[in-house]
Amino acid sequence: MIYDVAIVGAGPSGSTAARKCAAEGLSTVIVDRAEFPRDKPCGGGVNMRTARLLPFDISPVVEKTVHSVKFYSGTKHPYTLTSDEPLTFITRRSRLDAFLLEKAIEAGAKLEEGFRLHSVERNGNVIITDGDRSFTARKLIAADGANGQTAKFAGLGAARDMTVGLEGNLPVPTGQDSDFDRTVSLSIGALPGGYGWLFPKEDHINVGVWGPRSEASRLRNHLATVTRSYGLDPDDITELRGHHLPVRFKDSPMGDGQVLLAGDAAGMVDPLSGDGIYGAVRSGGIAADHVIAGLNGTETRAYQEVMQELMLEEYRVGKTLRDAFYVAPSFFVRLVMRVPPVWPAACRMVRGESSYQHWKSKLGPGYWILAGMAKVSRR
Ligand SMILES: Cc1cc2nc3c(=O)[nH]c(=O)nc-3n(C[C@H](O)[C@H](O)[C@H](O)COP(=O)(O)OP(=O)(O)OC[C@H]3O[C@@H](n4cnc5c(N)ncnc54)[C@H](O)[C@@H]3O)c2cc1C
Repeated sequence: MIYDVAIVGAGPSGSTAARKCAAEGLSTVIVDRAEFPRDKPCGGGVNMRTARLLPFDISPVVEKTVHSVKFYSGTKHPYTLTSDEPLTFITRRSRLDAFLLEKAIEAGAKLEEGFRLHSVERNGNVIITDGDRSFTARKLIAADGANGQTAKFAGLGAARDMTVGLEGNLPVPTGQDSDFDRTVSLSIGALPGGYGWLFPKEDHINVGVWGPRSEASRLRNHLATVTRSYGLDPDDITELRGHHLPVRFKDSPMGDGQVLLAGDAAGMVDPLSGDGIYGAVRSGGIAADHVIAGLNGTETRAYQEVMQELMLEEYRVGKTLRDAFYVAPSFFVRLVMRVPPVWPAACRMVRGESSYQHWKSKLGPGYWILAGMAKVSRR
């Protein structure tokens, strides 16, 4: 059988692509080396801009709904800002990913688990194999995450800026205030070019740090420092796990007419916020739309061009803002706390009601000052 589309990787990116393709009536096979439910190193924060992309409610897998952020930088004591509307859902990736994948299967996608991609061949169609099983398809979506091999096997290369994250779990501390369950803590600038977090989960808390690759060897120390600043003992951390969070370089590949990259495989981690589930779901959806249009004969532009318009320019501006932000993170955090319109603007961003490009146009010439700072910080 020749499938319309094969998808490698059943994380949020692959399952979103599979759901959309199958729902449009394309014969769709999705393969993953894991058996589901499977876990993945991740804080499991699904912000509102991500949840809004999904045409169904994810409340069955939501453990906490966050309205407040407690900032541990910029002032001597932590400072909490609250939003009336929810900002982020806290999930567990084992449950979230299985739930998203279930939606793809319900839409008609065929799942092959325990399939570790071994090679990709092209002969007009694309053939993927794990050594034992093989599937032939007209199009291929590579959604196999940060360390995925599909792009390389397909001859596309996979260079991305491999930023690093480390996370682990702790028991819920006693004597928390009543808002503990709906508050995330952020330690912005806790490490050069990155931040630390505390997320409340159903029966534990998750702490982690994210930063540039140059901080990889110091992540454990940064996590210990951040954990202590939350009044917790780093020796109590269990299930410590690290992983890459790939951020695109300007010329990182997006694919060609037949093989399309999505999610971490394409480096779609947001360069400023570090969230990757949004980039995974959004790019998985765009890749699916492109495959559908390609097979229907209604495609008018290359995938790279479509992505440029819908996501890549946005992330380019985000990267500039990040580079400027980390020149003086405490100063920018103080702006969020002290300058009244900034916090609501940040909330609108998290909820998907605003964008970095909108901030760029609002800032006017101020953006170009930030771009200058970003340029100096990159040297
Ligand atoms: C410590 C840490 C904390 C994070 N916290 C957050 C957060 O709170 N919120 C947020 O939005 N983002 C967070 N992220 C980023 C987020 O986890 C990723 O961006 C997101 O999972 C990307 O989704 P994806 O579908 O592209 O890839 P993945 O979720 O990684 O899925 C890829 C799939 O491909 C499969 N696969 C890989 N190789 C092969 C192969 N050879 N053959 C077959 N299958 C293969 C894997 O088994 C996996 O199921 C965090 C990341 C880290 C490291």
